[in-house]
Amino acid sequence: MDDVLVKSSKILVVDDVPVNLKLQRTYLNAVGYEVVDARDGVEALEMVDKEMPDLILLDVMMPKMNGFQVCQTLKNGKSTRFIPIIMVTALNELEDKIKGIEAGADDFICKPYNKLELLARVKSLLRIKHLHDQLEEKVAELEIAHQKLRQLAITDGLTGLYNFRYFKEQLILELNRARRGKGNLSVAILDIDFFKHYNDTHGHPAGNVVLTSIAEILRTNIRQFDLAARYGGEEFSLVLIDTDKAGAGVVAHKIKKLVEEFPFQHRETQPNGRLTISMGVAIFPEDGFDPDELVNMADRRLYRAKQSGRNLVVLE
Ligand code: GH3
Ligand code: MG
Ligand code: MG
Repeated sequence: MDDVLVKSSKILVVDDVPVNLKLQRTYLNAVGYEVVDARDGVEALEMVDKEMPDLILLDVMMPKMNGFQVCQTLKNGKSTRFIPIIMVTALNELEDKIKGIEAGADDFICKPYNKLELLARVKSLLRIKHLHDQLEEKVAELEIAHQKLRQLAITDGLTGLYNFRYFKEQLILELNRARRGKGNLSVAILDIDFFKHYNDTHGHPAGNVVLTSIAEILRTNIRQFDLAARYGGEEFSLVLIDTDKAGAGVVAHKIKKLVEEFPFQHRETQPNGRLTISMGVAIFPEDGFDPDELVNMADRRLYRAKQSGRNLVVLE
């Protein structure tokens, strides 16, 4: 362990006798530790809160709140339980040691103590404390990395929408919920009309801009608890919670219109003079009970929308 790190530690010294405080402060300062002090148990708890020391030297016999009570309180506190505590006892009393252990003390030193022994005990506990702090930091970093990975695993890289896998997962969950709550749920599948033509004419990067813009239209026109995903290459899907056919029709037509009116670059070069989408919608429970049934029905309706001329929503 890095001695520099150990030496930059902050130590709280708690004692009701000023001369004891002064002595301990002198010893600890001489080695390079930062020292803060408190004269009774209540003040000690306030100081811990304010200063978050790396170690506490805690006198047992004090007015208001004795060392055992302070120790127990700190060892029960979520943010303070890992601060090492050395109890400073007046005599080499077995009973005090047992009480101290029960209260959660990490070590003991008896008055009158030897300076070198005090410093050795302090140093050894500080090493452990710093190892523990480093471990906590690593755990926090891992947690953040894990969250990022999880986010990546469910996100489509181009559009930032959820991916197919997450859509399937959530559809299963939301269908179960709808079944229990006897509610409706709508699934929509959207496909860009003549997108191959757009790509062939203006290039793949321009096509990607269209995909990203459509994703943004979807994201900003569904409710917070609904879901928009990239279903495949140029296909998107929606899960609309608690939404029946009439409600899904409103959302579907609104989105169809927003896409139709969106000023995509070169949209006038498309076979129908605009850049449009077609959409098939299926509703639980009337069109199917399980995810596959609903998705297949939405897909069939999408196909019919294409057959019937495109830039259409098919709901039944
Ligand atoms: P339809 O109206 O019947 O849907 O015709 P379409 O041309 O859209 O259908 P088709 O399935 O023939 O073409 C889909 C096109 O989507 C072909 C492919 O190049 C394009 N595409 C799929 N994924 C991506 C992508 O990630 N980026 C871009 N730019 N294009 C993509
Ligand atoms: Mg397609
Ligand atoms: Mg298409």
